Order: sequence, then structure tokens, then C-alpha cells
Amino acid sequence: MGGLSGNIHSRREFFVGALRYAALGLLCAGAALLAVKRRWLKRQGICVNNGLCRGCRILEQCRLPLALEAKRSSSRTDNG
Ligand code: SF4
Repeated sequence: MGGLSGNIHSRREFFVGALRYAALGLLCAGAALLAVKRRWLKRQGICVNNGLCRGCRILEQCRLPLALEAKRSSSRTDNG
């Protein structure tokens, strides 16, 4: 009694759980790939933010010409 519906129910739970963990795994893999790509671009001296220095998270550490110019013009603006 109820064995078949119990099997279907537990099979469904198994697949839902498997899909959930697969989605989580894909999300983690995507985040790791983005981090690796960003680090690789930075090491190659390639901009990681399409040249949008204002608001870029790594502006303070960035040594690319665009960033140096942005910092220079920002300090000029700050000093008047
Ligand atoms: S600070 Fe500017 S040049 Fe450096 S990665 Fe960010 S956007 Fe690119």
C-alpha cells in the first residue's frame, strides 16, 4: 500500500535534490572561472572592467595606463 507512490515521491525528491546540487555546482564553477579569468587578465596587463576605472574594484592597485590616468585626473580634480 502506497509503495508505488512512495517510490515516485522519493524518486522525485532525489531528482530535485540532484538538480539543486548540480545548479549549485555550476554556480560555484562559474564563480571560480570568473575569478581565474580576472586574475589571468590582470597578470597579462589587460583591463578587467572594460576601461571603466571609475567604480572599478581594483582601481587602487591597478597599474594599467588607464587606471594611472584616472587616478591622476581624480587627484587633479580633488586638488582643485
Ligand atoms: S582600474 Fe581601470 S584599467 Fe584597471 S582594471 Fe579597472 S577599469 Fe581596467
